[in-house]
Amino acid sequence: MSAAPTTRTCRAVLIEDDSVFRQLLGTTLGTIPDLQVAGAFDLGRPGLEFCRREKPDLLVVDLSLPDINGMEIVREIRRTLPETKILVITGSAQDRLPGDLLSLGVHGYVNKSEPIGFVVGAIESVRGGGMFFASRIESTVAPKLQENLPAALAALLTDEQRQTVLEAAREKRLEALATALARPEAEVLARVATAAGFDVASNLETDPDARGLLPARLVHEYQIIPIKFGPAVGSVAPFSSFHTPLHLATAWLPDQQMSDWLRTFTPRPLVWHLAVPERVHQLIIENFGVGSGSLEDSDESYVAPEAQQSNDDVVDEDAAVVRFVTDVISQAITDQATDIHFEPQEGQLRIRYRVDGLLVPVPVPENLLRFQDAIISRLKIMARMNISEKRLPQDGRINFKAGGIVLDIRVSTVPTIYAESISLRLLNQKKEAYNMDRLGMNAEEQSQIVNILDYPHGIILVTGPTGSGKSTTLNAFLRKINSTDLRIITIEDPIEYEVPGVNQMQVRPEIGLTFADALRHVLRQDPDVIMVGEIRDKDTAEIAIRASLTGHLVFSTLHTNDAPGAITRLVDMGIEPFLVASAIELVIAQRLVRRLCPDCTKVAPITKIKLLENLAILGCDPAEAELITQLKSPVGCDRCRGTGYRGRVGIFEIFRLNDEMHELVLKRESTRTLADCARQHGMRTLGQSGWEKIKSGYTSFDEVLRVVTVTDA
Ligand SMILES: [Zn+2]
Repeated sequence: MSAAPTTRTCRAVLIEDDSVFRQLLGTTLGTIPDLQVAGAFDLGRPGLEFCRREKPDLLVVDLSLPDINGMEIVREIRRTLPETKILVITGSAQDRLPGDLLSLGVHGYVNKSEPIGFVVGAIESVRGGGMFFASRIESTVAPKLQENLPAALAALLTDEQRQTVLEAAREKRLEALATALARPEAEVLARVATAAGFDVASNLETDPDARGLLPARLVHEYQIIPIKFGPAVGSVAPFSSFHTPLHLATAWLPDQQMSDWLRTFTPRPLVWHLAVPERVHQLIIENFGVGSGSLEDSDESYVAPEAQQSNDDVVDEDAAVVRFVTDVISQAITDQATDIHFEPQEGQLRIRYRVDGLLVPVPVPENLLRFQDAIISRLKIMARMNISEKRLPQDGRINFKAGGIVLDIRVSTVPTIYAESISLRLLNQKKEAYNMDRLGMNAEEQSQIVNILDYPHGIILVTGPTGSGKSTTLNAFLRKINSTDLRIITIEDPIEYEVPGVNQMQVRPEIGLTFADALRHVLRQDPDVIMVGEIRDKDTAEIAIRASLTGHLVFSTLHTNDAPGAITRLVDMGIEPFLVASAIELVIAQRLVRRLCPDCTKVAPITKIKLLENLAILGCDPAEAELITQLKSPVGCDRCRGTGYRGRVGIFEIFRLNDEMHELVLKRESTRTLADCARQHGMRTLGQSGWEKIKSGYTSFDEVLRVVTVTDA
């Protein structure tokens, strides 16, 4: 003990109940220079007592001892003698997992079935300040983890397909495999699970006890989430927290690298379950926050393999913030959000998406506020705005490119009391262009409309509030009539869908190119059909009407609640009633309602009273209540993120002027009079159209009542 550091004798204590092994080891250790076996014990308690007194440099301890669990000795030594190095010996590979030991601060682990020279090597390594974990033992722990694509399924694929699947990101592999096999994802998930010996966990619930166990970056990277699973295991093991299995839901089969990483964070035995990738991802976002993998305080020991993100116009910025913003946008695209709002509030930066027309708060990392200024600056840089200007609203655009996605984003800032609030509108996403079926129009509605789409002139208007799908509908009409013998020009703001063969123009009011202005020019371009994104003012309205009266078919939109309201709105703008009455061929009012998730919707009973009450609000005939005792209702499952709804469907009110209504327009009658007359002539209102969709099981009363405002003529 008084020797110089290099030659200092290491005092070792040996606790091992197997007498043969103990003697063998004791003798062998005695031959190592500068190592002295200070004590050898076959029982744990006296061995621990001896260590407390003698404070050895090295403890070599067996885990299974007759009188006390070796883990308890390890903990006690770790707590009281931080300098003592510990090497654990065990007779059984299943005894303990190396990860558990590592987390307890053990320096090495070796199996006594190894050759004695191997064990001595372990002791020398640990004594010299190193670590020693026998890798062979680790690999016996999780034999299942080797197979990343079960052979039974791999055999069904071509080499190329196999490669595509394995090269896809973890959360995309199931989708890739389903595509390759041309089978539904749910079925493929079940097959992967069966082939690999896993189960599929549904109705996932996160495990609150596991929160904080795994770093966000790891969870994001591997798309795994700790879940509650089944009843607590009844065993009363002395080290319950370490013995409690950690159940993990994963988007794809775990591999060795993953389990190795996890092992360094938790000692708990891991139990894997496969689950629907979207749901796993959703839970990660809910529990860790969107982009939390990026904003996590830097942890040198773990670098995500795909951490670097290429970006063209990078001004020197904190890489974490850049990644975070990319994550938030990418997540919005995944969630099919149309808008992203960054809203500085007192003490927090709130982020919300608009999905299916509704605002959804986005769970954010707890430390987000710290990055608020950097995030706002980053967005402004991306949108090529003036970063130093914080007092005036600004507009800009982002050409977003990440992971194969190319997206146009319109950005606007407004100064609020806490900081600038930033809104992003995601444009021309690769969303599927809808045809009239997909919009939710029934055969009768389609035939009413298609007829008029063939007219050589006239105005067709679609009305409704922002986000009611007006441009989607006009787009469907354009696609319907699009042909080589028609010259179609559109004036839009923004251009939401590209239509091949159609000349699409973006208005730019900031340089004087307004709707009215653009329309004037377009008329000199010999068009057959013109689509004007929106009629906002008298100027645009007048030119559109003139265009229709001079032999053009004009499509446009107006912000009015119902279809007859469009007529009165134009008259109110100052257009002569007779011009309105002769130019307008068709007005369609529309709303989007969320569609019941086909995977989980169930019929639920409805009382006669409730039914009659709802029908009355929607303006439907009470006779409709006959024979109806139950309706499809939202439930919630993994596919619909527990909301009970997936996607949207339109409801429509289709209005055509007849001679009688023509007269009413000329007399400048109110919208209500016009609407009453239209109803008498068979116009189905939005409420009635909504009821049709409820009755056919597409949506619920709640949805229709939400979007159909009480009649305010
Ligand atoms: Zn569902």
